[in-house]
Amino acid sequence: MRRKADLPQKTCAFCQRPFAWRKKWARDWDNVRYCSERCRRTAKNSTAKNARREKETNP
Ligand SMILES: [Zn+2]
Repeated sequence: MRRKADLPQKTCAFCQRPFAWRKKWARDWDNVRYCSERCRRTAKNSTAKNARREKETNP
């Protein structure tokens, strides 16, 4: 019998909540950093904003 707790887990890099392995990530689990598409996009947006701000201050 397989328990859910046996699945690998990670902590979302954006919302800091733990999330469990999903089948759709089977090929890409090492690269998965966010629990959801929303977290991924929000994190990417804020990262892009910060990067742009740094560029503007350091041309
Ligand atoms: Zn998240």
